[in-house]
Amino acid sequence: MTIFDRIIRREIPADIVYETDEVLAFRDIHPVAPVHVLVIPKVAVEGLAHAGPEHEALLGKLMIACGQVARILGIDRTGYRVVTNVGSDGGQSVFHLHLHVLGGRPLGWPPG
Ligand code: 5GP
Repeated sequence: MTIFDRIIRREIPADIVYETDEVLAFRDIHPVAPVHVLVIPKVAVEGLAHAGPEHEALLGKLMIACGQVARILGIDRTGYRVVTNVGSDGGQSVFHLHLHVLGGRPLGWPPG
C-alpha cells in the first residue's frame, strides 16, 4: 500500500482535477512547475518496470488522461511534459505507477 492508494480511497485529501473509472489525476503536493499533476491508475502497479502486456490498454488510458488534464488546466496550447520516473536512478519515490504532467513555464532539457 502506498500513499496513492490512500488518495484513491479518499482516506487522505488530494486536489483532484480529473477522474475516470480507471484513472485519477491530482495536483502534486510539492509542485515543480505552475501545473504539476500526477496521473495514476486506480489499480496498483508499482511502476513502468512492472507493467506488462496486460496493462497495455491501461497505459493508453493514462496517456490519454494526461492530454485531458492538459486541456482542463489550459496548458495544451503552450505545451507541457509527461514523464514517469522509474526506480532509484529515475528518481521514483512512490511505488505506484504515475505520470507527471508538467507545464505552465518553459521546461529545460535535459533534466538535471
Ligand atoms: P516520483 O518521485 O515517485 O516520480 O513522484 C512522486 C510524487 O508524489 C512527488 O512529486 C511527490 O511530491 C508526490 N507526492 C508524494 N506524496 C504525496 C501526497 O501525499 N499527495 C500528493 N498530492 N502528492 C504526493
